[in-house]
Amino acid sequence: MVNYKDLGLVNTRDMFARAIKGGYAIPAFNFNNMEQLQAIIKASVETKSPVILQVSKGARNYANQTLLRYMAEGAVAYAKELGCEHPEIVLHLDHGDSFELCKSCVDLGFSSVMIDGSHLPYEENVALTKKVVEYAHQYDVTVEGELGVLAGVEDEVSADHHTYTNPEEVIDFATRTGCDSLAISIGTSHGAYKFKPEQCHVDPATGRLVPPPLAFEVLDAVMEKLPGFPIVLHGSSSVPQEYVDMINQYGGKLDAAIGIPEEELRKAAKSAVCKINIDSDSRLAMTAAVRKVFVEKPAEFDPRKYLGPARDEMEKMYKHKIINVLGSDNKLAQC
Ligand SMILES: [Zn+2]
Repeated sequence: MVNYKDLGLVNTRDMFARAIKGGYAIPAFNFNNMEQLQAIIKASVETKSPVILQVSKGARNYANQTLLRYMAEGAVAYAKELGCEHPEIVLHLDHGDSFELCKSCVDLGFSSVMIDGSHLPYEENVALTKKVVEYAHQYDVTVEGELGVLAGVEDEVSADHHTYTNPEEVIDFATRTGCDSLAISIGTSHGAYKFKPEQCHVDPATGRLVPPPLAFEVLDAVMEKLPGFPIVLHGSSSVPQEYVDMINQYGGKLDAAIGIPEEELRKAAKSAVCKINIDSDSRLAMTAAVRKVFVEKPAEFDPRKYLGPARDEMEKMYKHKIINVLGSDNKLAQC
């Protein structure tokens, strides 16, 4: 049994309370490898932002859960070495699908876990989430639950259609489970193909596809039922057109990849939404940068020469999100 506090990690309770009060959101970035982790830590240290490192099922399969935990421990030391004496770094399990998995993460030193019972019948979701909360809270590990179903594909999490969160269920769910935050479905979606072109309209000024707006009325109704309760948005990458264009320009083939406009996320971050999950955008940044090197320098075969530029591009993207979208810069309790 390893307690996250001994690793220098923090849970989400205090940072979420401050984020709601301050009208900003904490970035939750997924990581699978060293370059991504370095970019996340550098971006959050240089902007003085709290940060949530997320480990998905795909990441656990790819990089190994134990190794990722040690990398997160290393990330705390790295942040301090970069000059941040009191970093606020959460190690969070993304989309935990069983009590056993959540327990293993709590026991391994994670400071926060998500139990995703959103695909289950309501009463089963309540029972499973409650069980995870009862275990995790013994160690002061915070728990994210989910109500409503997001569309899209992300690693092994996938659904054809979304079902908006029913605001009538949120009080009962939060009260009976004791969860610390709630992921809701208001039209965000997993992956880089969040909308079909036929769901969008064309912006006459740019010629680009604009997706349908998020269901802010659902968010408003949830906030009215649960004032001040931490709300989470999954699937909130913006799929920057510059990266899609760059990937296609350098030999890739991404057709009609569409994300959530940053304007909408900016609006959400000012509300009780205090955690915004971004994964696809870093995949796109990394892929675009790697492809560029491969095309421009075909003789290059030192991985550091293409993973290095990829790391720089991700760092730039993370900083942009922190400063211009989530507003979590300069929000550390202590520097
Ligand atoms: Zn998700």
